[in-house]
Amino acid sequence: MPSPLSHMNDTLADFASLGLAAPLLTAIDDAGYHRPTPIQAQAIPQVLNGGDLLAAAQTGTGKTAAFTLPILHLLAGRPLHPHPSGRPRCLILTPTRELAAQVAESVETYGKHLPINSIVIFGGVNINPQIAALKKRVDILVATPGRLLDHVQQRTLDLSGIEILVLDEADRMLDMGFIRDIRKILALLPAKRQNLLFSATFSDDIRALATGLLHRPATIEVAPRNTAADLVEQSVYLIGQKQKRELLAWLIQERQWFQVLVFTRTKHGANKLAEYLSRHDIEAVAIHGNKSQAARTRALAGFKDGSLPVLVATDIAARGLDIEQLPQVVNFELPDVPEDYVHRIGRTGRAGAAGNAISLVDTEELKLLTAIERLMRKKIERASAEGFTPSVHAEQAYEQDLRRAPPPRHGERRSSNGPKPRPAPPRPAVRSTPPARPARSSGGRGR
Ligand code: AMP
Repeated sequence: MPSPLSHMNDTLADFASLGLAAPLLTAIDDAGYHRPTPIQAQAIPQVLNGGDLLAAAQTGTGKTAAFTLPILHLLAGRPLHPHPSGRPRCLILTPTRELAAQVAESVETYGKHLPINSIVIFGGVNINPQIAALKKRVDILVATPGRLLDHVQQRTLDLSGIEILVLDEADRMLDMGFIRDIRKILALLPAKRQNLLFSATFSDDIRALATGLLHRPATIEVAPRNTAADLVEQSVYLIGQKQKRELLAWLIQERQWFQVLVFTRTKHGANKLAEYLSRHDIEAVAIHGNKSQAARTRALAGFKDGSLPVLVATDIAARGLDIEQLPQVVNFELPDVPEDYVHRIGRTGRAGAAGNAISLVDTEELKLLTAIERLMRKKIERASAEGFTPSVHAEQAYEQDLRRAPPPRHGERRSSNGPKPRPAPPRPAVRSTPPARPARSSGGRGR
């Protein structure tokens, strides 16, 4: 019999040596990966061993495959429970809907040659298709905490069969106030299970969570915490808050930026800025927690395919966006937490590609800038926009705009429920890009 690897790229031997089954190696080959990333090389054998894991890894390191591949391998090799409907064997918890959708996509991609069923559930969309999907066999459930608990309450989900639990981007889950939900969920799981905790940072809170959750975990830390700081070309423009939007519009046009991710501190600020840019012939869309899932998915799809040049986002909305080799990131305001700056600029310059990040900094933000520079142990270059002069009416126009409170736009809900969005009524898609499916099944025995 020919070796299962005989038709594959030789470099896949690296993946094979980690102990992954042939159908996974085929999927890896289909994905075009040549060798495991450092987090994969370290995490995969550990997960295959059945042990708990505490891993420090940021988005962009290949962390999703680092847990998804060995989980698929383990589940495919284990016998099924006799009553598998609505009783998943693996639960992957993520902080945001976007990340949940992306992780679920990875599960499908890597598991496509295996008889493993997966679904994704998150808030902001109709719960009924999720309930229907949970009536079938589910091996892997990817979920955000709020909607997961809604299902538990409605008794549409049984968590007593969980063999493997993954907390993905655990630090962000704590930042978003999910700790109580997480504790509630943990209480519903069987005591004997494998636990994997992935986090970009290791705060005291994460360590406390890990201590209570993990049993003698292996600890993996790939690439020092703030590597984005070294990879990305960064500069700071010192400018008054009220002149920032003019400078940004000028920079986008002057430098011909075609794909810019702009961070604002607030949802309102994101809306205002996107409106301002759009009024000045720069197509921009704001994406944040008050937007319906369909609107967010549409904006992200347009941004990814190049038809939308500017995406304005809050930190939470941007978390988990998988946009490869983004050329330009702009901090319209500096974040309050210095680590968030590193996350933000980590959106560009990924996988060794050259990235550029600029920050527009008002005198009120200088303290934040100092804190960021201290964290990175590096001074960020001060730049000047030669040829840019703010208009004489900049301040007045800014203040007028700020006072104008527009009605909620299409795809936006009036009030925010914080990190746990409630379902929004389904809306017609404007673009042809299909919205992320709220629940789906893949694979399936006898397929
Ligand atoms: P993640 O850190 O999980 O968000 O993954 C970041 C990106 O890296 C995703 O687009 C993956 O498709 C890609 N990726 C994951 N593993 C590999 C690999 N071994 N080789 C090349 N690309 C990879």
